[in-house]
Amino acid sequence: AKRKGKSCYQWFQERFEQQMLARLYMEKGLREAIANNHLVLHYQPIVDLVTGTAVGLEALVRWQHPERGLAFPDQFMSVAEESGLIVDMGQWVLRAACQFGKELLDNGKELNLAVNVSVKELLQADFVDQVALVLSETAFPSRYLELEIVETLLIENFSVAIPKLRALRSIGVQISLDDFGTGYSSLHYLTELPIDIIKIDRSFLAGAMESNKQAAIVETMVALAHRLQLTVVAEGVETEEQRQFLKQLCCDKVQGYLISKPVDQAKVYELI
Ligand code: C2E
Ligand code: CA
Ligand code: CA
Ligand code: CA
Repeated sequence: AKRKGKSCYQWFQERFEQQMLARLYMEKGLREAIANNHLVLHYQPIVDLVTGTAVGLEALVRWQHPERGLAFPDQFMSVAEESGLIVDMGQWVLRAACQFGKELLDNGKELNLAVNVSVKELLQADFVDQVALVLSETAFPSRYLELEIVETLLIENFSVAIPKLRALRSIGVQISLDDFGTGYSSLHYLTELPIDIIKIDRSFLAGAMESNKQAAIVETMVALAHRLQLTVVAEGVETEEQRQFLKQLCCDKVQGYLISKPVDQAKVYELI
């Protein structure tokens, strides 16, 4: 359709340019946010299903924009990934999470810290060295650090990723396979991946209370993980019914709004 005499092509061209500008603007803002410490971590407790106590925290990044307020990862993560800024952001996140983990330890709170790592970060030549450096500089013992990596991308970069995961485990860090079940991975890979934990994606849990078939899938995932000697965390637990269901399956840990939404550092102390 024509708009005020402009050709269709011109109209699209302008829209395209606007979108490009918005992206560039976002990228610039994000770069400044990293440099100026406008990022903040929120933490969501991960609870042991048997004891009911918090045994871990997942660090989740937010962008504290001076004018626009708090922005969530769905608003900026794709720009961070595509621009490569995710590498600097990830370094910031890792350091901040390890510092907080150390602070908790110093206060007698022994909790694992789970940090999300994008595959772009993992594929950096010096990633393992950087992790080791941050651990030593923050004096956070490696056995309390878990790195969460999304399944799909890991498998697309299988041959490069595997030796790095091995190296991370050899320095004492634990590896979680995040969003388990959402990718196209074949079960074959599961036996090849050097991992310690799988996190069942919340999409499986959402359907498990309504459908016996969905419930069967969750049950099978838990059993399979245990046969492979892996710890299982269920994500997105929102109801008591879901928690009871997972407890029956002997799932190890749960995380979700039922226990707590992600909260800021100060509020963590009220939860643990
Ligand atoms: P994720 O790693 O799967 O993190 C879980 C997401 O589910 C979080 O969203 C969390 O707030 C949300 N969540 C937790 N419990 C529930 C629940 O019971 N119900 C529902 N509906 N949602 C729940 P968030 O914080 O918006 O993060 C979204 C995604 O952004 C994360 O998904 C992760 O992939 C990515 N992300 C967050 N922080 C980082 C980071 O520091 N580095 C990297 N590379 N990615 C990050
Ligand atoms: Ca995660
Ligand atoms: Ca997840
Ligand atoms: Ca996810």
